[in-house]
Amino acid sequence: MNIKKLWNSYWSERTQVCMRCGMRYKIRIGECRFCKGKSNGEIIEQIHIPYSEELEDSNKLGNYFFIIGILLYAGAISTFFWY
Ligand SMILES: [Zn+2]
Repeated sequence: MNIKKLWNSYWSERTQVCMRCGMRYKIRIGECRFCKGKSNGEIIEQIHIPYSEELEDSNKLGNYFFIIGILLYAGAISTFFWY
């Protein structure tokens, strides 16, 4: 096992949460690529709002699959009782 190689890959993939926008960026790069050169208003408008909408969308999709799962389950049970 090559410890130096392992350390290099660990170091190059290490991320840090940005204190300004809350996104993760690679420490090796040294600066946050999401909010670099943006004002606080721009950070909220361009990062926080789209990001929270994205989270909401994935939640909706999760609920959708949950409902389909229940319907399939109910369907399986009802066919079981029909026979
Ligand atoms: Zn940032």
